[in-house]
Amino acid sequence: MRPLLNWMLVLGTLLPVSGCAPQRGAGDPSGTVDLLLLGGRVLDGAGSPWVQRDVGIRGDRITFVGSARVAGLEAADSIDARGFLVAPGFWDAHSHAELEREDGKYALEFLHQGITTVVLGLDGGGSNQIGDIFAGYTEAGIGVNAIHFVGHNAARRAAMGNDARAPDPEEMAAMKAYVRAGMEQGAMGLSTGLFYTPGQFSTTEEVIELNRVSAEYGGIYDTHDRDLGAAYQGVGYDASVAEAIRIGEEAGTPVIFSHFNPQGAHNAGRAPAGARMIDEARARGVNVMAAQHPYTATQSNLRAYTIPGWAVDGGQDAMVARFDDPQVVARLDQETLDMLALRGGASKILFGDPRPELNGKTLQQVADERGQPVPETVRRILTDGNATVMNLDLYDDWNTRYLAQAEWMMTCTDGRTPAAGQDVVHPRVYGAFPNKLRRFVYEDSIISPQFAVRGMTGLAATFYNVADRGQIREGWFADVVVLDAARIQDRATFEDPHQFSAGAVHVLVNGRFAIRDGRPTNALAGRPIPRQDGGGVGR
Ligand SMILES: [Zn+2]
Repeated sequence: MRPLLNWMLVLGTLLPVSGCAPQRGAGDPSGTVDLLLLGGRVLDGAGSPWVQRDVGIRGDRITFVGSARVAGLEAADSIDARGFLVAPGFWDAHSHAELEREDGKYALEFLHQGITTVVLGLDGGGSNQIGDIFAGYTEAGIGVNAIHFVGHNAARRAAMGNDARAPDPEEMAAMKAYVRAGMEQGAMGLSTGLFYTPGQFSTTEEVIELNRVSAEYGGIYDTHDRDLGAAYQGVGYDASVAEAIRIGEEAGTPVIFSHFNPQGAHNAGRAPAGARMIDEARARGVNVMAAQHPYTATQSNLRAYTIPGWAVDGGQDAMVARFDDPQVVARLDQETLDMLALRGGASKILFGDPRPELNGKTLQQVADERGQPVPETVRRILTDGNATVMNLDLYDDWNTRYLAQAEWMMTCTDGRTPAAGQDVVHPRVYGAFPNKLRRFVYEDSIISPQFAVRGMTGLAATFYNVADRGQIREGWFADVVVLDAARIQDRATFEDPHQFSAGAVHVLVNGRFAIRDGRPTNALAGRPIPRQDGGGVGR
């Protein structure tokens, strides 16, 4: 583990050794704090119901939780939080925040939801150059804290391109070395996107072998599982869930399912089957958890939704070359139609791609405009490159609500920082957390505020084994959101997505205001969070 320690020193993010926690506010000889949040309804993030407390912050830590008046505590600055909820900052357990972008580093889409920590490098895509990524964050500044995974697809692409075959021993060794380098540099674990190219070409055994490398470091296995129930000629929802659990169980790592929810009309009402498998795995000693966003639409890419695996063997250029062969095209076009049928048809595929001739239109609309059959439209678009698309109405809202009640359920946006010119994007990047709170907690009361907030905070911090974060506690990092429950509202819609959410009145990241009185400060107070060794039920 020594190289990891070196990286942490390089990054200046070495955390205090346990047992040397900062002084308690009440016993603080100076009797002062930098900031007092006065009289808010504190939800601790551990699941306790709210209780009225003052919260004192000094530097980057919460140093006081109690009654400031009784303790005689003075503050340089204070906020009247009466009537508001005071909670730990939220954890986006599956994020595509592009913090490395100059216009993405402020992370305002996320901060306005109350998110203060994002988990990146998922769906198998994470680079292993995590030391450089983290150093870049530290140098340029980031608006939220960031955790990174190293990706299986990235490892496979580096070792053997996009070939639809098994790796030879040298390629397998190269993939293992890739994962190891990521783990040495602070990766939280291995992520996969077995639905995507080239992950779809791998066997379960290949992933288990790579996950064993992560296991040596106490890593976590995060998966966009192979099927989710709507993959063409796939393994099916149940087998897909079982495979992910097996990968963690045999390698000896915890497992987290990204955006856990069965897809497709044929899986309506089937969430209990997947939940049961997770419960059974937990009963066997495998620490399996999941994250969800509350929307019925997914977002991914057109190629993954419409082109079968055999046709993307070798990658983009090899695929486009196949478009010239009429016999191949005849077979391909039929399979494209079969794939789309699983997803509700071309009218359910909505382009979020920045290309203006596509953005905001459905695949059916584009085909109609061009007077082309849908499969031909798909081929022509993909010839110019892959396209960002949503799949409307792919999730069953009943399933989502059922899963929201699971003890092991976290929350995620799965949202990507919008690109310039991307007028239509999935609203989840702006609204997943407020949407879930508004609908599931405040409108429909299917989960309590403390249960929802626990899944968004303390549960995640415990699972990822990140010390001193995820709860409102003395000595812990001051990642805090002050919420006006009456005003929690996601405002982004599919028609008009570029709208920040309301309700997060104040957001603090490592003790600094990122949002104050509803207005962003553009403070870049986030920090990279490398994997921390030892402890925790996460392991
Ligand atoms: Zn995914």
